[in-house]
Amino acid sequence: MKILNHLLYANDGKQVSYRATPNRGSKYSPTYLVMHYTAATKAAGSIAWFLKPEAKASAHLVIDKDGTITQFAPFNVVTWHAGVSQWNGLNGLNSYSIGIELVNGGKLIKQGGKWVCPVDKESVPDNDVIIAKHKNETVENAWHEYSEKQLAVAIEVATLLVKTYALKDVVGHEDIAPFRKSDPGPAFPMGSFKSKAMGRKDETLDLYKTSTEVNIRKGAGTQFETVTKMLPANTKVTILKREGTWSFVEVLDTVHGLNDIEGWISAKYLVK
Ligand SMILES: [Zn+2]
Repeated sequence: MKILNHLLYANDGKQVSYRATPNRGSKYSPTYLVMHYTAATKAAGSIAWFLKPEAKASAHLVIDKDGTITQFAPFNVVTWHAGVSQWNGLNGLNSYSIGIELVNGGKLIKQGGKWVCPVDKESVPDNDVIIAKHKNETVENAWHEYSEKQLAVAIEVATLLVKTYALKDVVGHEDIAPFRKSDPGPAFPMGSFKSKAMGRKDETLDLYKTSTEVNIRKGAGTQFETVTKMLPANTKVTILKREGTWSFVEVLDTVHGLNDIEGWISAKYLVK
């Protein structure tokens, strides 16, 4: 893959499908990459929507389940994917970020014994569904899984974008608009995706594992409630900061069906 004149070219040297959206702003210099899901199981509907002026919505890219990419505006032109949002002191992330939409049904509902995307009413096979708790929610729900091909293509594009535009971070819509948005959700492996896209080398991470089954908490002390069920022994984590005898960690393994657990662990249970 390569980027020429802010347009994406696939590994076969051909420009990816380009559909110019009317829903775009002025030129800008992106600082962040924001990941989304479309909340629909098929690409066609989302692509058609982004081409309609009344949608007042768009993104730079849509990546389908089979890895097919559609681009809607050059990467140096604002698209309308973030809405009301805040990150690191910035307001309205459209003006600061590239937006990628992954075709995915999002949070599913049960209808007639089947898992169904509530937006397009399409059913999702049981083996494409995970039951997990969203990091901004308190109960478990059913979520549409991303395909391996789709994630592999997304990582390749994200890595190229981070390098080309010297992006500072990869975030989810759920991070910049936590009271409105749940995408890309718990089915998206944000921890490993971010590490790969940002080109973090393992040796630069402060890597530890849990020595025993251990609680992970919302604050640095046993008085704080737990984030999820206990982490098993030998769970891989990286320490992001320390406070007294407690460490704030990002869990690198998938635990209890969750890809993106963060919280506080008593440091005595962490070993190299
Ligand atoms: Zn979104």
